[in-house]
Amino acid sequence: MPKETQVNILLAAAIFAAEKHRGQVRKDQSGSPYITHPLAVAQLLWEIGDIQETEILSAAILHDTLEDTPTTRVELADRFGSVILAIVLEVSDDKSLPKMERKRRQVLHAPELSLPARLVKLGDKLANCTDILQSPPNGWNLKRRQEYIQWAADVISQIRGANAALESAFDSVLTEAETELAFQLQPFSTIHQRPWGWSL
Ligand code: NDP
Ligand code: ZN
Repeated sequence: MPKETQVNILLAAAIFAAEKHRGQVRKDQSGSPYITHPLAVAQLLWEIGDIQETEILSAAILHDTLEDTPTTRVELADRFGSVILAIVLEVSDDKSLPKMERKRRQVLHAPELSLPARLVKLGDKLANCTDILQSPPNGWNLKRRQEYIQWAADVISQIRGANAALESAFDSVLTEAETELAFQLQPFSTIHQRPWGWSL
């Protein structure tokens, strides 16, 4: 694919996501524009993961459109094609399910993800865990922040081997979280003890 085409697709994805997330804000105190998050995920994949595939970077930019906006699968397929749609679908929760069941399924189904979806998932969890430390959602107490980090660690434990640099960056955030939030992450083998766990 020529470079101009790649840049065009990325810019189209950024504009599409910005329009779809219009008016939405992150949960942090300053209410950052929502679009900064999917753009940050793509930036992490590019800068840390050295991911250069347009489909993966575009999917990162679009990764929350199906889940958090009225965007349809048909819209994504028409604008960006079936490859990008498939990646976005893989990282989208089924919103008809209760929240805790969605969290359980993310851990349970992580091993089934394709490599592109694993990379987007890694970028997303890296961005969100960094936010939990630097600009946490309003009203979250220490326990809620610790539990989110533990859950993200559980999800990522199931997709190790996708990208060493991104995983190392994620591990640094986990180490920082243990210090900053004064707790100790538990290994995946103890998943049954958690609200999103199940018996191994
Ligand atoms: P939420 O799913 O409500 O919020 C976290 C999500 O919000 C992130 O994954 C991220 O998703 C988005 N987000 C927006 N702004 C920020 C920000 N500044 N920092 C980080 N993430 C941000 O929270 P939980 O996953 O904790 O909880 C889901 C449900 O499970 C809730 O109903 C909660 O009460 C419950 N719960 C219960 C527990 C228990 O019983 N002990 C423990 C944990 C949760 P995105 O990438 O899509 O933007
Ligand atoms: Zn996200």
